[in-house]
Amino acid sequence: MSHENPELPYGIGEVQATARPSKAGDKSVECFVVGCQHRLRVPSRTFPGDVCPDHGIRCHYSSNRPTYSYLQARRNIIASADLFTQQIVRHPFKFESHRLGSERSEDALSWNVFRSLQEARLLSQVGEMLTGIASSHEPTLYLWGICVSDDSCEPWHLLIAARERFESALPVERPLTEPDIALHLPGKYLILIEAKFTSCNTHYDEGPRQSPTSLTKQELVSIYQDDSLRIVNVRAAESSSRVYYQLWRNMVFAEWMARLDHPQTQAFHVNLVRDGADVESAFEFRRMVNEPFQGRFQRLTWESLYRRLDQRTELSRLKQYLESKTEGLQRAFSL
Ligand SMILES: [Zn+2]
Repeated sequence: MSHENPELPYGIGEVQATARPSKAGDKSVECFVVGCQHRLRVPSRTFPGDVCPDHGIRCHYSSNRPTYSYLQARRNIIASADLFTQQIVRHPFKFESHRLGSERSEDALSWNVFRSLQEARLLSQVGEMLTGIASSHEPTLYLWGICVSDDSCEPWHLLIAARERFESALPVERPLTEPDIALHLPGKYLILIEAKFTSCNTHYDEGPRQSPTSLTKQELVSIYQDDSLRIVNVRAAESSSRVYYQLWRNMVFAEWMARLDHPQTQAFHVNLVRDGADVESAFEFRRMVNEPFQGRFQRLTWESLYRRLDQRTELSRLKQYLESKTEGLQRAFSL
């Protein structure tokens, strides 16, 4: 196991905001690391913000709430930080990598949790927990469609094929489907996981296009469907006033990719969220999953994943990270 960062990211009790940035003057705050005396100007549209010379962070006030970001994304990483820095941060397949140093980054959280589980060879346990399918073989781990099980960081050919099938002629220019996390055991199961940390599931409503890069609800449902698919209920989506589009696309991709993999491969889609979050959207989306396949979509919380982790010492670093993790300088998880 590789811990190139001996320290964990700043955790609960190590960061606090003493005061809001001054309305007038230089818009500066005291560095959020407890005890630090440096004053830092917060980022604005025209200024990237000062970096604390002692702690390597920028302090932000976004929507009146404090948060911080590391200048070096690797300081946000608890497992295989070198691999992450060298292979992922600038990977051409990764759509949005500039926020990886942020306290609020769900991508850094996803990497830290699933790369740690992969290094501890516990992904088969997670796979069994999500699918009920036991195996002594570890599934392959993909983060944002990049294989990170063998450090090759190759793009996932099944995902590329699905993008070609569904996204080669989109009516607007928009990012292609990028499953946050995936576990694949060829011939057995294929799980696409949509991870949420500080944001919520988003939906398209009935009616016209909501932004230049969004699809309409009607376009979503007509583009992302295929006669070979059995899991999603197209009629339910068509008659509903809104559709949670990331969940829809991931469920369609999961089944289509699983069929391409092997006739026996079962498709699953998991919405990984915080305790209490996105209950309604998962409930609503489940109505768009055909009856015999209800178990193929599930809502899972980071907290329940933590509670079901093995008591092994290999995971003590991951557990400590999740226990102390902050969001807006407050405790992030109800643990
Ligand atoms: Zn500082």
